[in-house]
Amino acid sequence: MPRFPGVDYLQFDSLLTEQERLVRQTARQFVDDRVLPIIRDAFNNATFPQQLVREMADLGFLGANLEGYGCAGMNNVEYGLIMQELERGDSGLRSFASVQGALVMFPIHAYGSEEQKQRWLPKLQAGEAIGCFGLTEPGFGSNPSGMRTTAENRGSNWILNGEKTWITNGSIADVAIVWARTADGIRGFLVERGTRGYTTTDIHGKLSMRASVTSSLHFADCAIAGENQLPCAKGLKAALACLSQARFGIGWGVLGAAMDCYETARRYTLERKQFDDRPLASHQLVQEKLAWMITEISKAQLLAFHVAKLKDLGKVEAAHISMLKRNNVAIALEGARLSRDLLGANGIMDEYPIMRHMCNLETVKTYEGTEHIHTLVIGEKVTGIPAYR
Ligand SMILES: Cc1cc2nc3c(=O)[nH]c(=O)nc-3n(C[C@H](O)[C@H](O)[C@H](O)COP(=O)(O)OP(=O)(O)OC[C@H]3O[C@@H](n4cnc5c(N)ncnc54)[C@H](O)[C@@H]3O)c2cc1C
Repeated sequence: MPRFPGVDYLQFDSLLTEQERLVRQTARQFVDDRVLPIIRDAFNNATFPQQLVREMADLGFLGANLEGYGCAGMNNVEYGLIMQELERGDSGLRSFASVQGALVMFPIHAYGSEEQKQRWLPKLQAGEAIGCFGLTEPGFGSNPSGMRTTAENRGSNWILNGEKTWITNGSIADVAIVWARTADGIRGFLVERGTRGYTTTDIHGKLSMRASVTSSLHFADCAIAGENQLPCAKGLKAALACLSQARFGIGWGVLGAAMDCYETARRYTLERKQFDDRPLASHQLVQEKLAWMITEISKAQLLAFHVAKLKDLGKVEAAHISMLKRNNVAIALEGARLSRDLLGANGIMDEYPIMRHMCNLETVKTYEGTEHIHTLVIGEKVTGIPAYR
């Protein structure tokens, strides 16, 4: 398998600093050397390659854009480029890193007590502990404000009851960030694996995100100490702010899947010959598809880069990130379909990464706010009218 040369039609790399290119190269090499050789089997066998967690941690990939507590303190372009390369490997691996960094470390960093930060962040950054984020419930996906999981304050404890589902890393997590309804509104809690009344079950039968653990979390009179509440996480907006962090990473990540599909199709159509011994790439209809893919990838790169710059400046809005996530997932998914088409029958084979990316991207379209929901976020931003209900 030739090494991935990168995709750079518009001299995108000229926008990057030397350090940003170095970070990308480190992630690229990690994916080429450590992920690509094993990911097909991991996906086929529906196993998460957990042995890679410590390696990613050693490279500074976990919570990479957070400051302190052992975190790498990278800027948002560097962070995005890591997500891009990880998702070129597989969306499941990027999902792991997104959950760990943006949905577990970020809320502890942003809303936790100093004690919680000292206790968890260094371990999570080092890959010595794994985290998960429990927001979705069986009856509440796009509308988490309806959640039924409760946390009742009894003496010095909180008693949790309810169920979370579709939770990435659920059964392998040492700590779960759980969002629950209290007498004071929605709050976030840290629930440790092994706590009495807290159990997990894995979801089987997924045809997407097979190299990722997805579970349900069950709470039955689960008592946790008062100090396990995240003191500064007040209301659903705290949970949504975590999602903004993760969605930002997704907006970059899917570029990796899109690039892999594009590059696979470009190479394949140059090599495969049909009609008068001419390469597929010599036909206009084939070039039209490649032209669509490279144009959309190039536009999506610039969108991701600009949103990262806004984020570095503290000027990014949730609605900007909605545009990034919605657009980049959509073009990645469409690009995967075009790429599959260009490979003909071979396109359906697991020898090529396309169907794996395509199946994964169906999840990416749905989680962290569906395409519809991000459309409505953009609609609200430009009209002032919320149209969710
Ligand atoms: C593999 C995987 C991993 C996941 N990981 C996590 C995780 O770690 N933590 C977590 O908390 N959750 C996780 N999720 C859950 C994910 O966030 C939800 O699936 C998502 O929010 C959508 O909810 P839903 O599946 O209940 O779909 P629904 O909300 O039932 O939506 C179904 C369809 O209806 C549409 N729809 C809903 N409301 C509207 C509306 N107002 N207007 C227009 N259309 C609408 C949606 O866009 C969608 O097309 C994961 C999901 C998957 C598949």
